[in-house]
Amino acid sequence: MSPGSGSASGDRARLTVLSGPSGVGKSTVVARLRETDPHLWLSVSVTTRRPRPGEVEGREYYFVDDHEFDRLVAAGELLEWAAYVNLRHGTPRAPVEQKLAAGVPVLLEIDLAGARQVRQAESDARLVFLAPPSWDELVRRLTGRGTEPPDVIRRRLDAARIEMAAEKEFDVTLVNTSVQDVCDELVALMLR
Ligand code: 5GP
Repeated sequence: MSPGSGSASGDRARLTVLSGPSGVGKSTVVARLRETDPHLWLSVSVTTRRPRPGEVEGREYYFVDDHEFDRLVAAGELLEWAAYVNLRHGTPRAPVEQKLAAGVPVLLEIDLAGARQVRQAESDARLVFLAPPSWDELVRRLTGRGTEPPDVIRRRLDAARIEMAAEKEFDVTLVNTSVQDVCDELVALMLR
């Protein structure tokens, strides 16, 4: 990989992975980038979960059934994939490779298990950890309106503690104090 990739020089561009604990706001950051930044390419994952209201096929995700997901895994068509609760999400390999080869910086927004797989598969990838402004803020986001049973909340916080400990495996940490600031920092990192 060469510096200054993303230019029209034909050099292979940089692969960047954005990950972090659930509830930290990764998808909000990506949604903002999708609206504003034409200089990079946001990978669109396949998922076995159903679309949420407002999600569009091919924009947030490609929505597939279990059978198709199995086929993609067996055919080696996913760069990485992970199970999340009883659902699966994965990154289609070919479009990522095509964009990087064309000199376009690529961003994956994926969970920690996926980030670890990318680390193994693509040693040049830059792993960015999105951290909450504070532990209390993450707790606030994860507990929401407090309408969920205490054992559900407790499990979420236990998982979050483990996820926060993964920060040391990452190359860079960005603190999610403001969505716009994180987007600006991320774009600057990706184009560098
Ligand atoms: P959601 O279902 O809320 O969109 O995403 C759930 C989790 O799956 C988030 O932590 C998100 O980062 C992660 N995720 C989304 N796409 C992928 C993917 O392609 N691979 C992996 N490993 N995780 C993903």
